[in-house]
This record gives sequence, C-alpha cells and structure tokens, in this order.
Amino acid sequence: MSKKVPLTASSQNSLLGEKKLKGMRNFDAIVVGGGLVGVSIAYGLLKQRLSVLILDEGDIAFRASRGNFGLIWVQSKGVKMPSYAAWTRRSSDLWADFAEQLTEETGVTLHYSRKGGYHFCLSEQEFNERSTLMARLAFVTSGAFEYEMLSHNELRYRFPELGPSVFGASYCPHDGHVGSLQLLMSMHRAFHDAEGSYLANASVSDLKKSGNSFEVRTRDGEVFSAARVVLAAGNGTKELAPMVGLSAPVRPQKGQVMVTAKQKPFLDVPTALLRQTGEGSLLIGDSKEETGFDDMTTPEVMRDLAARAVATFPHLAQVRAVRTWGALRVMTPDGHPIYAQSREAPGAYVACMHSGVTLAAAHAGPLAEAIAAGTLPENLSSFSPDRFDVH
Ligand SMILES: Cc1cc2nc3c(=O)[nH]c(=O)nc-3n(C[C@H](O)[C@H](O)[C@H](O)COP(=O)(O)OP(=O)(O)OC[C@H]3O[C@@H](n4cnc5c(N)ncnc54)[C@H](O)[C@@H]3O)c2cc1C
Repeated sequence: MSKKVPLTASSQNSLLGEKKLKGMRNFDAIVVGGGLVGVSIAYGLLKQRLSVLILDEGDIAFRASRGNFGLIWVQSKGVKMPSYAAWTRRSSDLWADFAEQLTEETGVTLHYSRKGGYHFCLSEQEFNERSTLMARLAFVTSGAFEYEMLSHNELRYRFPELGPSVFGASYCPHDGHVGSLQLLMSMHRAFHDAEGSYLANASVSDLKKSGNSFEVRTRDGEVFSAARVVLAAGNGTKELAPMVGLSAPVRPQKGQVMVTAKQKPFLDVPTALLRQTGEGSLLIGDSKEETGFDDMTTPEVMRDLAARAVATFPHLAQVRAVRTWGALRVMTPDGHPIYAQSREAPGAYVACMHSGVTLAAAHAGPLAEAIAAGTLPENLSSFSPDRFDVH
C-alpha cells in the first residue's frame, strides 16, 4: 500500500537526515554520493537483496540532481557512440515500469509521461543541421531510433500557439519527462523504506581495499566497510576515483534555468528548450557554459532563454518569470557516461555522467543487477575511462 507524505523541502531533509545506521559499519555495498545516480544504483542494489549504505556529502556540495530539467531524452544522444544511444533507449523503455514501481512504493506523484519530445528549430539552417544529426543517429543505431522532421505547418496543427519564427522541429517518440525533484525524493524515500542506510553530511575523504573489502573513511573520521563500493559522487568523483585505480575526468558545465508562474496546461510534451511541469509552471533552459564551479545565473543568458521561448510561443511574452537557478552538469570529455570496475581493486565501480534522469531506470535495473553480480553489463565495456587515455 502506498504511503502519502507531503512533498516539502523540510520533509525531504528530515527524511534524508534521520536514517539511523543502528551501529552498522559493514555493508554489502557502499555508494558514495546520494544524487540521482548514486541513489538509483543504491535502490537497485537493495532490490538485489544487498545491504547498502549511501554516504552523501549533501547540500554543501554542488548537486546536479537538484537543478536539472527533467527530460528523459533519447533524441541526439549517442551519434558518436552507438552503445550510448542503445543504453539511453533501453533506459527510456524501462522508464514506465520504473515510474510505476516508484509511485506504488512511495505514493509520490512523479508526473512522468512519454508522449515523445520536440526540438524546435528557429531557422532553416538549424533545421537542416538537426535533420542531419537525426539521420546520422538513425543510421548508427541501424534504424532502432525513430524520429520525424516536421515542417512549420505540421507543427502548427499540433501546437496552435506556435510562433511564426519556428521553421520546423525534430520529433522523437522515445522521449519523455518527469518531475525531477519528485524523482529524487521518491528514490530516497523508496531506498529508506526498503531499509537502505543513508548518512547525510558524510564527505568521503579516503578509501582503500583491505583484504576482500573496502575501507571507506569520511572527513569526520567515521570508517565503514563493504565488499563493493560505487563512486557516484558527481563532480566529486574525480578526486575519489584514483584512490581505487579508477579515473573520472569530469568537469562542471553550467546550465541556467528560468521558471515561470503556473500556466493553464498548453504543452503536454517536453521540448529541448522548455517544458510544462505537472504543477503548471514552465521550465525554460538549455544553456551550456564552461565557468568552472560558478553556478550563478546571469541576465544575458536569461535574456537569451526568454527570447527563444517567446519566439517559439509568443504568448509567453505575457508570462511572469518567478525564479531562476544555475546548476552544474557532470560532464565527461566526450559527453558520454563513464562506467567501469577497477582492475586494480575489483569491487570498486565508478558511474558518472550527464543524463542521470534519463538513465535512472537503467541504473536501478540492469546496472545495479550487474554490480550485485560482481560485473558490469557487457554492453557498457565501451564506457570505460580508458577511452580518454592518450597513447
Ligand atoms: C541545468 C541542468 C539540466 C539538466 N537536465 C537534465 C535532463 O533534462 N535530463 C537528464 O537526464 N539529465 C539532466 N541533467 C543532468 C543530471 O541532473 C545529472 O546527470 C545528474 O543529476 C547527476 O547526478 P549525480 O548523482 O551523478 O550528481 P549530483 O547530483 O551532483 O550528486 C552528487 C552527490 O555526491 C555527493 N558527493 C560529492 N562528493 C562527495 C564525497 N566526497 N563524499 C560523499 N558524497 C559526495 C554530493 O553531495 C551529491 O549529493 C541536467 C543537469 C543540469 C545541471
């Protein structure tokens, strides 16, 4: 039976902070990082009947999981790495069951839907470039990826409010979206309810293999051990990975998002630039900036975002923006995920990437299943950080 607890920031914080470890120090698996990637893997490991501890630095760290856009996005992923296109598609196919299971277990409404997604193009050149990209994706995936390129007139039929500057769009039926904070909240709640152990404000400073298990130490001097350790600490993974013979050359990449006042429902599908949330507000944002660990918003980017949104749907010129934020993506050198098990210290895994929302279903499912069995899914061998080694 589902339990209903109001979804508020304070209920979330107390839920996350109050998990007692009951003196336990030894676990089957320790997951470092309680963002979307860490908690989805940890939740999946619990389903495999492992005892699991999440050690999470918490809100003092940069957390992409609290600032993302909520797209479950297949179009445009993996043109240069077909295994990434296939993994993304697999996760998007697993999403409906995953969302149903989470909602059943926690009572949290995720606002998940999969009616396909659109990428609007504001010029003929943008449209042609998009068209080339989509054709290449269909080619490298041997046709497993479906899409349509739609003209302005075809779109007008689907979106009566569309502006005249929209030249066309790509449409992909595999895309969807979800309330991203609800997702993070529900996974933590499901993990908690299934007797997972969570320690907040626990910044891991050291880890090493000792015999058949790993010794994991926090900055406060607490020590825990486990046969498996999964490094999923977002941009914090870069420092931790070398301690167990792995590497995670990730960097922060800023994205800014604008939120409007709630609107009557008019957009029931996500687009790459804007989407309407289950509560009615619009999220607008697809900026990408290399500004290191600076996550501040800027008027220039907000102006650009607003201008593109208004060009797409002119009636938005009358809509009030109520909030903005900046957040840091976890970006690898080629934009594709990193998954690996250490050769030097078997049992230690690394998982970091952009697209933690899209891939949550695959992380809780096949990835966690493989880690519990002491391996990685076979189709993930090309995601090793070895690909960045310069020979
Ligand atoms: C603006 C923006 C829009 C995005 N939109 C989408 C989208 O539409 N769809 C999509 O799929 N993805 C999207 N993403 C990406 C997605 O949010 C990330 O892939 C995902 O949140 C990464 O999760 P994570 O758990 O790896 O990292 P984080 O969320 O950064 O979490 C890392 C966690 O590790 C903890 N940590 C760090 N160091 C340590 C340490 N030493 N010890 C213990 N804990 C530590 C931190 O406290 C934190 O809780 C977006 C990201 C941004 C910034």
